[in-house]
Parts: sequence; structure tokens; C-alpha cells
Amino acid sequence: MMERIRSFFRTFLLFELVKGLMLTGRYFLSPKLTVQFPEEKTPQSPRFRGLHALRRYPNGEERCIACKLCEAVCPALAITIESEKREDNTRRTTRYDIDLTKCIFCGFCEESCPVDSIVETRILEYHGERRGDLVYTKEMLLAIGDRYEEEIAQDRAEDAKYR
Ligand code: SF4
Ligand code: SF4
Repeated sequence: MMERIRSFFRTFLLFELVKGLMLTGRYFLSPKLTVQFPEEKTPQSPRFRGLHALRRYPNGEERCIACKLCEAVCPALAITIESEKREDNTRRTTRYDIDLTKCIFCGFCEESCPVDSIVETRILEYHGERRGDLVYTKEMLLAIGDRYEEEIAQDRAEDAKYR
């Protein structure tokens, strides 16, 4: 009986409505959390897993030794590698493609790489207009590595502190 009376008064006095309006008022006056992307950006971790890149050593030599560990470990079968032996008996890739329409950005490729060659950068703003545009070739991946090497090296050094 008491419960029914309490319920009647709660309904009569629009208690739920007032409670809802109080909550709205509290958020109306509090600082806004919405980030105005793309002008504003949220902080990124040095471990951010964005667009891939292939790195070189400071002397310009490709790091990748075509061991194919990244290709083997990729759960999405997104990496395709072909390789050949060079005149100096070292092995290098002749083809290194990543199909970003398959990639799930798990980071296994960079974790598996013994020479820190394939990495995922902080880049998240890229697009393709046709399916084929998102198949990144070796040349494209090396160009990204060349352009962002400084940032990549800094992120790897920062990441190494916590391993
Ligand atoms: S991030 Fe994961 S899914 Fe994408 S290429 Fe690397 S291993 Fe494959
Ligand atoms: S990127 Fe690394 S893991 Fe992949 S083939 Fe080259 S050396 Fe091996």
C-alpha cells in the first residue's frame, strides 16, 4: 500500500522528469568533452597501430630481410611477399604488399619482425577510392617509412622503455 502511495506521488510530482532535467543541467554546465576532429585530435600512444611503413637503416639499406615471418603470422592473410637472393648473397623482397582492406591492425606483423622493419605508424588519415587503392606496395610502404622515420624511431624508443 505504501509503495502505491509513494508511486502515486512520484508520478504526480513528475519526480523522474525533474531527476532527468537535473542530470541534463549538470552536463549542460560542465566542460565539453567533444573533440572537434579534424582540427583537434586526441592524444595517441607511441604504440598506436595505424598505417604501415617499411623502415631503412641510416645508411639507406632496407631493414627487411625477407624472412616472411610477418606474412606467416598475419591472421588476415593481408601480407604478400616475394623475394630473391641478391648478388651479395643477402635476401631481399621483390614484392611486399599489404592489403589494408583485409588488415585488422592487430600489430602481429611488427611484433614478429626480427629487424624492426615493418611497423605501424600513427597515421590514421588515409583513404582509397577504389579497392585497389588500399593495397600498399613495397615502394609505398618504404616511402612512408622514409617520410616518418624520425617519429617512428622516437615511438619505438619510447615503447622499448616499457618492455
Ligand atoms: S596488423 Fe595484423 S592483420 Fe594487419 S598486416 Fe599486420 S599482422 Fe596482418
Ligand atoms: S618485414 Fe620483418 S618479418 Fe616481414 S619479411 Fe621483412 S624482416 Fe621478415
